[in-house]
Amino acid sequence: MLNPDNLAPTSAPARPASDATPEQLRRAFDAQAAVALRLRTSTARERAARIRKLRDALLQHREALHEAFAQDMHKSPAEVEATELLPVMDEIRHALGRVGRWMKPQGVWPTSTSLGTRAAVHYQPRGRVLIIAPWNYPFNLCFGPLVSAVAAGNTVVLKPSEMTPAVAALMGRIVAQVFPPEEVAYFEGGPATSQALLDLPFDHIFFTGSPAVGKIVMAAAARHLASVTLELGGKSPTLIDETADLAMAAETVMWGKFLNNGQTCIAPDYLLVHASVKAPFIEHCLSALQRLYGATAQDRQGNPDLTRVVNARHTDRLAAMLQDATSRGARIVAGGEVAAAERYIAPTLLDNVPEGARVLEEEIFGPLLPICTYTDLDSAIAGINAGPKPLALYVFSRNAQHVDRVVQGTSSGGVCVNTAMLHFAHGNLPFGGVNNSGLGNAHGFYGFKAFSHERAVLRGTPLRLVKMFFPPFTAGRTRLIRRVVDSLRLPML
Ligand code: NAD
Repeated sequence: MLNPDNLAPTSAPARPASDATPEQLRRAFDAQAAVALRLRTSTARERAARIRKLRDALLQHREALHEAFAQDMHKSPAEVEATELLPVMDEIRHALGRVGRWMKPQGVWPTSTSLGTRAAVHYQPRGRVLIIAPWNYPFNLCFGPLVSAVAAGNTVVLKPSEMTPAVAALMGRIVAQVFPPEEVAYFEGGPATSQALLDLPFDHIFFTGSPAVGKIVMAAAARHLASVTLELGGKSPTLIDETADLAMAAETVMWGKFLNNGQTCIAPDYLLVHASVKAPFIEHCLSALQRLYGATAQDRQGNPDLTRVVNARHTDRLAAMLQDATSRGARIVAGGEVAAAERYIAPTLLDNVPEGARVLEEEIFGPLLPICTYTDLDSAIAGINAGPKPLALYVFSRNAQHVDRVVQGTSSGGVCVNTAMLHFAHGNLPFGGVNNSGLGNAHGFYGFKAFSHERAVLRGTPLRLVKMFFPPFTAGRTRLIRRVVDSLRLPML
C-alpha cells in the first residue's frame, strides 16, 4: 500500500507560486521587443544552438525531474521518461535535424494570373509569443512547444500550470539556466497570472488546456488580434467492432486509458463496443488490467507504476462522477475503489451507464472508463457526430470498410486505427484538435509553422505582364482582359 505521507499535500505547494505583478509581466514583455526583432534574422545554426543547450540542461536535471514528478503526481520514473522526457527529446532531435530545411523559403510556381513573377513562402518568426501549459503533462507540454517556438525564431513567455508546483519550480530553474529572460521568460502562477499575460499584445498565443479556458484565451487574443493555437480536450471515443482483435484492442485501451491515470487529453474517454463482442471484450480488459497494473485491487492500489490524481479537487470531482454513475444504475466491472487521502482512484470500468450520467457528458480526465454498446455502425457514427468534435478517435476493426466509414464519417483532431495514442508521438503528423478540441497544430514542421508567419514574397520580373491590366481601358484592352478571363475556363495543364 502506498504511504500517503509520500504524496505532496495539494493544498500546500512544494514552493509557493511567485505570482508576478502585471507591471513585472509588462516589463518582461517589453524587454523582449528588441530581441524579437533581432531574432528575425537569426540563422538555423543559432536556433539549433539554443535548442541544444536546452536539451543538455534537461538531461542534466533528469534525476531531479523524476523526484519532482514523484512529488507532484506520484508518477514513476519510467513513465516520466516515456511520456515527458521522450516526446521532448524527440521534438528536439526532429527540430535539430530539420530546422535549416524548415526555414528555407518555399518557392511556388506562378498561376495564370501571376505569370511573369517569382514567388516564395517565407517562414518569418511571429515575434513575441506566449505559451500557457496545463498540468497533466507539465514538462512535455511546456518544453515541446518551447522547442518549436525557439526553432521558429521567437522570444517566449512561458506560463506553466500552478497545479504541479515541484515540476514547475524545476522547469523555472532549467529555463533560467538556458535562456536570458529577454529570450525566454518564465512565470509561475495561476489564472490571475495567465489573464495578466493575456492583456499583453503578444504576436501569438499557444495555449494547451480545457475548451472552457480556451474560449477565454481566444477572446483575450481577439482584443489584440493575436493569432492563436489552441490545444484543447474533449471526449475521445473508442470504437471496437465485431471483427476487432479483441485481446489486442483491450490491452491497448487499458494502457492508453490508465497511462498517467487517465489524465491524458487523448485518452480513450468512452468505449463504443459492438454488442455481440461486449462480454469477451470485457474479459480481455480484465485480464489486461491484471497483467498491466496488478492482480488484485490491493496490488493496484500499491502499484508504483500507477500515477495518482493530481490533487484533492480532481480526486473529489472524479469520485463524484463515479458516484453519479453508480447512483443512476451503472455497474462497476472493475475498480471503483477510492482512497481520497492518497488521491487514488482505481482503474475503473463501468457498464450499463445510463444516458445523462456525468461520465457520458463531461470530459472524464481520470481513470474511469464507461463501456457503451452499439449494434448499427451508422448509429454509432451518428452518436459520435452528435457531440462536439473530439481531439482523438480510435477504431479497432479488421474490416477495412468499417474503418473507412468511421474515418470518413466522423471528424476529430486525429485518428488511430488498431492502436491508440501513437499519433501524438509521430513527429511528421500534425497534432491538434478541431473546433471544440482545438485550433491549429503542434509538433515538428507543424509546430514550427504554428510559431511562424507564412509570408508571401513575390518579385516582379522585367516581363511586366501586369501592364495589360493598367488603364486606359481602350476597347482593345478591354477585349484582351475578357479573353484572359475566358481563358481560365480551360483546364490547368
Ligand atoms: P485548464 O484550462 O484549467 O488550465 C490550463 C492553463 O490555463 C493553466 O496554465 C492555468 O493556469 C490556466 N488557466 C486556468 N484558468 C484560467 C483562466 N480563467 N484564465 C486564464 N488562464 C487560466 O486545463 P488543465 O486542467 O490544466 O488541463 C486539462 C485540460 O487540458 C483538459 O481539457 C485536457 O484535455 C486539455 N489538454 C489538452 C492537450 C492537447 O494537447 N490538446 C494536452 C493536455 C491537456
